[in-house]
Amino acid sequence: MLIDGYGRTVNYLRISVTERCNFRCQYCMPEKPFSWVPKENLLSFEELFLFVKVAIDEGVTKIRLTGGEPLLREDLDTFIKMISDYKPDIDLALTTNGYLLPETAQRLKDAGLKRVNISLDSLKAETAAKIAGRDVLDRVLKGIEKALEVGLKVKINMVPLKGINDDEILDILEYCKVRNIKVRFIEYMENRHASQALRGMHGKEILAKVKQGHTIKALGREGASPSFNYLLEDGTEFGLIDPHKHDFCENCNRIRLTAEGNLIPCLYFDEAMSIAEAIKEGDIEKAAGVLAQVLKDKPKENRWNEEESGKAQETSARAFYETGG
Ligand code: SAM
Ligand code: SF4
Repeated sequence: MLIDGYGRTVNYLRISVTERCNFRCQYCMPEKPFSWVPKENLLSFEELFLFVKVAIDEGVTKIRLTGGEPLLREDLDTFIKMISDYKPDIDLALTTNGYLLPETAQRLKDAGLKRVNISLDSLKAETAAKIAGRDVLDRVLKGIEKALEVGLKVKINMVPLKGINDDEILDILEYCKVRNIKVRFIEYMENRHASQALRGMHGKEILAKVKQGHTIKALGREGASPSFNYLLEDGTEFGLIDPHKHDFCENCNRIRLTAEGNLIPCLYFDEAMSIAEAIKEGDIEKAAGVLAQVLKDKPKENRWNEEESGKAQETSARAFYETGG
């Protein structure tokens, strides 16, 4: 079992398989980064899998593939199959912008993928294009339908932004409700790579919008999930991911691995240790040692907290497209 320095059990590994993306979301990668990690520095799926086996053997029970846009790595299904064959009962999920799902969903499902979280920030083509930097809505909606059709469990992620898509919170909730999909509203997390003009919505403001159309009941956090769950009057559930809240990190159960092999203990901070050398040498013990050290170094909490907000706190320098959010 993997336990961090604060006694939290870590059983969830998020792997960013690429930092590249076909969208330019304002809150993540409004412009192409000055430089990408050179292709030769990326770990192959065989190399990533060596670490995945270490992590599973040490107690990881849930793996999420993310990015950048993970579906830009064409043979992602082969990686999914490697993991699924090694541990068939692993909770194996993907986070994607959905653009490439119409043609890949079936292959992913056949390879062993169980769940997919799809980002959907607007149901209006113009607003979706304003956020993503290109005309994407039609394909994203088709991607959602395809994922449902092939039998993947689907969740929707929406990042509400003031003056951009904050008028669509109820519409997205309705879109999900009629399809029996859970939506999670994510508070915008300030970071240096995002468009600095953006203003996110606080969890309380998001809930106030939902209350304009519904009565809601708080259910609480679901185990170590970052999502605080709520129930609508008709039994529909939705979630709120609220990293600015003081108790958000209490049950944090995750670590992150980037495409070039950096193991990251917390989304907010710059700290990371590389497993690339150990993996390239095939030195499993050394990789396990790096994992143990990263767990030891995992910070108590992020710095997007309520007490700090409003003060001149530093914004996170971590790029979401590198860590996978
Ligand atoms: N490209 C995929 C996608 O967009 O779903 C996967 C990677 S993306 C970094 C993972 C999640 O992070 C998405 O749901 C996205 O909306 C969210 N995200 C990115 N930047 C964010 C930010 N600054 N604040 C809150 N959520 C963010
Ligand atoms: Fe790409 Fe996802 Fe970042 Fe948007 S949020 S730029 S789709 S990685």
